Amino acid sequence: MEVAPSLVLDQYAQLPRTGKPQPGEWTVVAGIVLHSPSEAPRVVALGSGTKCLPAAAVAADTRGSRLHDTHAEVGARRALRLFLMDQLERAARGAPSIVVPRADGRGYDVAAGVEFHLFSSAPPCGDAAVVASAGPAAAAAQIECERPPTHAAKRHKPSAASPPAASPPAASPPAASPPAASPPAASPPAASPPAASPPAASPPAASPPAASPPAASPPANGSTAPLPAEQGKECAQTGARPVSPRAAEGEAAARGRACVAGVARTKPGRGERTCCMSCSDKLARWHAVGVQGALLSLLIPTPLRLASVTAGGRASLDALLRAIASRVTTPSAPAAPRVAIARGVAFEYAQPSYPSHRRPASQEGDTRPCSNALLWYSGGTCEAVNGLTGLRMGANKRSFSPKHRAQACKALLLRRFCKLCIAVPKHHLPPEISAEAMSRSSYASIKGLATAYQQRKLEFLQSSVFREWVIAPPVCEAFTDEDVNGPPSEVQEAARAIV
Ligand SMILES: [Zn+2]
Repeated sequence: MEVAPSLVLDQYAQLPRTGKPQPGEWTVVAGIVLHSPSEAPRVVALGSGTKCLPAAAVAADTRGSRLHDTHAEVGARRALRLFLMDQLERAARGAPSIVVPRADGRGYDVAAGVEFHLFSSAPPCGDAAVVASAGPAAAAAQIECERPPTHAAKRHKPSAASPPAASPPAASPPAASPPAASPPAASPPAASPPAASPPAASPPAASPPAASPPAASPPANGSTAPLPAEQGKECAQTGARPVSPRAAEGEAAARGRACVAGVARTKPGRGERTCCMSCSDKLARWHAVGVQGALLSLLIPTPLRLASVTAGGRASLDALLRAIASRVTTPSAPAAPRVAIARGVAFEYAQPSYPSHRRPASQEGDTRPCSNALLWYSGGTCEAVNGLTGLRMGANKRSFSPKHRAQACKALLLRRFCKLCIAVPKHHLPPEISAEAMSRSSYASIKGLATAYQQRKLEFLQSSVFREWVIAPPVCEAFTDEDVNGPPSEVQEAARAIV
């Protein structure tokens, strides 16, 4: 195990109460831990949340004001980008930083030996939640972000009509200590493990996880066969819908009894389909192209990748590895990150079907996902966001103000990037960047300057699994900093303040 889950859970426990689940709610938390030769491991970025906006709300956000996706893993990655910006600002003014100028003078690299490790309290939604297993563990492996636990994965009854699997699934690692008497697909009270203790005032420090399976090697190729319900095993389904209409129709017709492993999916949700891809697919993309994104790759050109991914809950090592690495077949894809399952992690706000659930019996039953999200990074402030609007908590729903925007929304990321380009010494900027012109360039066109990153992205989107990747309409990234944040003179003044 590369990450001590307690580091992330303790950091979450220390954050303010606002934005955390209320009684009867659950959430997912994800954190990124920095390993460095010069200091003890520490959490540098954290996100919690379970929501994303419907496609219509995303399309209407033409000024980059809202967070479209507030799932925990996506929040942690956004927080990491803010942390990296903070480190770049520090480097620009000569302060100690984890980023250092590159030898060729163009841009920065993270210092030698620095690694980023992700821990999530639950398996990423989408492909990593599609698990075949012989026991109840599989049912608990799903993340249902919109549907109540009543609709949890159902035990499949073997049927002669089930389609044959192309190949048997790799065996999932055995689950340690399954919860006592918690059959899958029962009503919430029956499906929930008995409440073992009253709620702690703060999340208990995670008990040292039981020995996790060794870091796994990727299989030769990612399985894309329906998981074999006909073998009499349960198939934990994901509420995330396949992007392919044919696969989606097939799963709908099977009423969730057979999920297809390995396919790209949009995030779970009732009603209108969202245009946000599942966390499993996004993790695969970050692995392929770099977790820093296009904008930051202009200043940190070397692709940053997660050195390891650890999931809590009833995750499957095989599904996790397949979801985030084995499906990536691009020429420039690196070796798979190490993956691990954290057993026995006690997260106070875990989904009730998880064995680590510790709510009292009085709070079981009608549990629902918490609609609020938290985003925090080392050196910054903690921000609570309403996942249903993508704006900061407390924002007036009827009248929008720029003050309601979260610091990680595209509009504010762009302003901060423009400030950075002015603050960074000119000789460290790539030649294609004109710091003074940044404020009048669209968000999309600035991202387009990152040619190496765009090439990796193109390769990724042309690979068979991800060919039907759903994106937000282009109008969502057509705004400029000047359009949405005011005149560039303000940017220059702010940049001078940084220096
Ligand atoms: Zn997710």
